[in-house]
Amino acid sequence: MRTTSPAGTPHAGTTGTAHPRRSRRLLTAAVTAVAVVGLALGTAGPASAHAAVPAHHAGGSPSSWGWPPDSQLTPRTHFVMAPDGSSGLTQGGEGIPNIDSDKKTIYAYYGDPGTGIADKTSSPYISEMNRIVAAQTARLQRDFDKAKRRGEKPALVFDADDTTLWTYDMEVADMHFNFNPAEQDVWVQGQRFPATPAMVALVNKAKRIGYTIFGLTGRNDNQKAATVANLAKVGYDPKAFVADRFYTKWTNTGSSTQPSYLTCVATCTTVEYKAGTRAHIESLGYTIVANYGDQFSDLQGGHAQRAVKLPNPTYYLPSADLPGLTEPWLAPRTRFTMKPDGSSGLTAGGEGIPNIDSVKKTIYAYYGDPGTGISNKTASPYITELAKVVHKYQNRLVAQCRVESRFGGRPAIVFDTDDTTLWTYDMEVAAMHFNFDPALQDVWVQQKKFPATPGMVALVNAVDAAGCQVVGLTGRNDGQKDATIANLKDVGYNPFESDFFFTKWTGVGTSQQPSYITCAAAKCTTIEYKSQTRKYIESKDFGRYHIIANFGDQFSDLLGGHAQRAIKLPNPTYYLP
Ligand SMILES: [Mg+2]
Repeated sequence: MRTTSPAGTPHAGTTGTAHPRRSRRLLTAAVTAVAVVGLALGTAGPASAHAAVPAHHAGGSPSSWGWPPDSQLTPRTHFVMAPDGSSGLTQGGEGIPNIDSDKKTIYAYYGDPGTGIADKTSSPYISEMNRIVAAQTARLQRDFDKAKRRGEKPALVFDADDTTLWTYDMEVADMHFNFNPAEQDVWVQGQRFPATPAMVALVNKAKRIGYTIFGLTGRNDNQKAATVANLAKVGYDPKAFVADRFYTKWTNTGSSTQPSYLTCVATCTTVEYKAGTRAHIESLGYTIVANYGDQFSDLQGGHAQRAVKLPNPTYYLPSADLPGLTEPWLAPRTRFTMKPDGSSGLTAGGEGIPNIDSVKKTIYAYYGDPGTGISNKTASPYITELAKVVHKYQNRLVAQCRVESRFGGRPAIVFDTDDTTLWTYDMEVAAMHFNFDPALQDVWVQQKKFPATPGMVALVNAVDAAGCQVVGLTGRNDGQKDATIANLKDVGYNPFESDFFFTKWTGVGTSQQPSYITCAAAKCTTIEYKSQTRKYIESKDFGRYHIIANFGDQFSDLLGGHAQRAIKLPNPTYYLP
C-alpha cells in the first residue's frame, strides 16, 4: 500500500520539482491582478445573481448563467463533514474539504514546512498541547489527594501513539498519510518516535506525586519491549511506564493470546479492548483518575473518571461504542472552516481541522469508490453532479454555438483536460494514494489510461456539431500532447485536434514558451499560462475566436477572464492554486 513518491518530495508540488500540472505556487499577486481583468471582460448580470456560489450552482437568470467573476471563483471555506465519510453522499464536490488544502492545513498546524517533518519547538500543535497539558498538570495533585482521602489507589492511563509518542514524522514524511503497518514496525522496533509535546513532564510529575501509570495501546505484544524502551529513551521516567503495567494487544501467536478478562468474541473492537482493559485495571483495585488518548476510541466505553482528548487530525481510528452506551461528547466535530491555502491550520485547533482519514472516506463516498481507489463508473454522487452540469449547460451552449456560427462568428469553447475531459480519479487514488507523482502520471498519459469524465463526451461532441470550435487547454506538456489527444479520441471525443490543443512547453528543444505569453516570474503560473492562451485564441493572430465558455475543475483553469463564462467542475481530490 505504500505510495510511490518522487525522490525527496514527500509532498509533490510543495517543493517546486513537480510536474507543471501540479506545480503549486503562491499566486496571491497574480490572482489579485487578474481579478480586475476578469471583471472588465465579463458580461455578468447583477452581481447579486452570483452571490458566493460555485459556477455551476449560479442562478438561472438567462443573462447570468454560469458567469461568476474572478472574485467568486474561489473554493468554499465552510464544510459539514461527518467522520464516517457519509457526507460525500450529500455535500457535493465543492462541499467536500479538498484533500490538498486539508494537507496544507495539517502542515501549518504542525509547523511542517512541506518536508513531512513537524517543527519540534514551536507550532500551533505544540501550543495546543501545552495548553491542554497545563490544565491537566494543574489538577494532578488535587485529584490525587482527593482519591487518597477516599482510600483509593489513583492511576492514570495513557495511550501510546500521539499521546505519549509522536508519530507525525512517520505518518507524513515516511508514509504520506497512508498507514503501512510493516513500515510502522520498523519505526517501533527502532524506537524512533519523539515524545509528544509536553507529555513527558506531565507523566513524570504524576509519577512523583504517586500515581500508578498505565500504558494502553493498540501496538501489539511484539512491540511492547521496544515501545517501553522508546518511552524511557525520550525522557519518560523508566519507573512510570513498565512492562507489567503496559498493555499491548495480542497477536494470537505463541503465548500472545487474548486475556481471559476480555470477553469479546474473536477480534475485539478498539473500544472493547481498551475499555475492557481499563475495567481490568479497576478490578486490580485502582481508580483511573484520567485516561489520555488522541482517538475518541481510546476514550469511549467509560472506566475512567475523566477522558482527556489530545488533538490529532492526521488519522482517524473509529470504533463502535460499547453496546447500550452513547457518549456523544466523545465524537469528532462535524463543522469546519478551512481556507484553501492551509492558513486555517494556524488558528483552527486540532479538532477544528478536518481529519484526513474522514476527508478520504468522504471523497470515496462521493466517487462511489468502495475503498479500492477505483471510482464507480456508472453511478455515484459525482456522476450525478456532472450530469446536472451537463444538463444545465449543454443545450444553451449548443444554441449559442449555432447562432454565433450561423452569423459568421467564431464561437469556441475551451476545455481543460484532467478531470474536465479525462478522469484521473483511479490514478490519483488507486495508483497514487493522493500523492501526486509526475513520473507515474506520465506513464498513465503515454499509455492513454484515462476514462472520460462522466457526461462530458456528449457535451463536447454536441457543441462541436453545433459549430463551436472545441479547444483543449491543459497543464500537461508538449511531450504528452499526442498521447492526450489520442486518449481523448479513444474514449469518444470527436473534435480535439492538434492545432486547437494547447499543452505547456517543457523548455527543451523546440518546446519553448510562446511569444504571446509573458509572465511575472521565470516560471509562469497556471493562471498566466491559461488566461494568456485564451487571450491569444481570441486575438487576430489566432483567428478572433469568441470563447463562449471555459470548463475546468480547478479555479486556476478559470481565473483571469478571456471567456464569456467559466464553468467549474467539482474535484476534491487535489487543488492547484
Ligand atoms: Mg493514539
